[in-house]
Amino acid sequence: MSQRITILGGGESGTGAAVLAKKLGNQVFLSDAGGIKTKYKDVLSHHGIEWEEGGHSPNRILDSDLVIKSPGIPEKAPIIKELNVRNIPWIDEIEYAYQHTNGKIIAITGSNGKTTTTLLTHHMLVNAGLDVGLGGNIGKSFALQVAERDRDYWVLEVSSFQLDGTRTFRPYIAILMNITPDHLDRYNYDFQNYIDSKMRITRNQTPSDHLIFWQEDPVIVKELSEKPTRATCYPFALVAEKTADWKGARVNNEELEIQTINNQLTMSIHDLALKGKHNLFNSMASGVAGRILELRKEVVRDSLTHFENIEHRLEFVAKVAGITFINDSKATNVNSTWYALESMDKPVIWIAGGVDKGNDYNELMPLVQERVKALICLGKDNSKLHEAFGGVVDQIVDAESAQEAVNLAYELGYKGDAVLLSPACASFDLFESYEDRGHQFKQAVRSL
Ligand code: ADP
Repeated sequence: MSQRITILGGGESGTGAAVLAKKLGNQVFLSDAGGIKTKYKDVLSHHGIEWEEGGHSPNRILDSDLVIKSPGIPEKAPIIKELNVRNIPWIDEIEYAYQHTNGKIIAITGSNGKTTTTLLTHHMLVNAGLDVGLGGNIGKSFALQVAERDRDYWVLEVSSFQLDGTRTFRPYIAILMNITPDHLDRYNYDFQNYIDSKMRITRNQTPSDHLIFWQEDPVIVKELSEKPTRATCYPFALVAEKTADWKGARVNNEELEIQTINNQLTMSIHDLALKGKHNLFNSMASGVAGRILELRKEVVRDSLTHFENIEHRLEFVAKVAGITFINDSKATNVNSTWYALESMDKPVIWIAGGVDKGNDYNELMPLVQERVKALICLGKDNSKLHEAFGGVVDQIVDAESAQEAVNLAYELGYKGDAVLLSPACASFDLFESYEDRGHQFKQAVRSL
């Protein structure tokens, strides 16, 4: 039955949702309070979809049967409050696309490691020769792809904002990497709200579905003990007791062990393509997913051995005068920076800062004390960094551009040091995005 559907937000996900809704024969209207990029306007016009920008027409929106909201629009936005008051249902694009696919869903969430694990899992399913799509919080809109052609499998990166707009979403395999404070500004500065949002990934799962999660994460463990999942559980951990009915992944004598029902796969951790402790978790989670799907052991091993890491994640840029430059611009929260610092084996000149999302730097103190010789603050407002590290790091200086930060780092550095851009903050004060920040950093290093 044709419905009046309004899409709020004309970015990648909103435009995709609009195309799918139109294709399904609905009356579709898209509204964006800001501007819509030309490429999305072209897609909308091509499909004969009406749109507006620079403001919302409340009458038209409030006359909808269903609203599909872009994840960037917070629930406290007046238009969403109005929908709630009038009991007009609103969902996320992920939910909408989910309702119209017959594919099996592998959904990955967590505070860190989502993109890496999503790409690694997708790579594995491609290597296995399956008909698989990649979407969610990454690349092309899930809804748009479903509108074009459904797939047998979908590997989806799912953010907490997207999960907030799910209702019936039920992944066949859900992967929950970790939960550490992030985006608190969107969650009334209450960590529990953010946790609840992440846990939505498993709430509709049944015993025929699977939940892969990090067993050493105290937050996840506590949540699951208080609100048990109905899914079949596959925990992964660096250290785990192997009981008779144990299933999941662990590291044992430098071997990665993946145990599914009555079947075990082992491989040396030294063969893994992705290096660093955090990437062990990502490899374990993907490997378990592959084995739940009964992919051949050679395919799983081979995929974990041959995978190219993605840009802006602990990416080696260059060595200049004996100083190593590393781009970890994607570290937009404290926890990801923790792993970056943890993996450093040289004295570090650390470039941090940007838009603070309610950061608590305490957990970084021991690593900073031990490894960081100078801190370069790269943000418009660096007061919080100065406050936190004033008495801890010998030298703290401010920079207002990637170029200035790199020049300062180069002056402060000696042969054998590492310069690490791992901001622990979002990038929007000085840059367009974390990619832009990473690119400007690399450009500046290359021009030294
Ligand atoms: P996300 O999509 O969740 O932001 P990414 O894979 O893009 O995750 O990685 C983001 C940042 O977190 C990078 O700095 C990366 O080095 C670091 N990281 C990757 N995997 C993990 C993990 N399992 N735990 C903690 N940090 C991680």
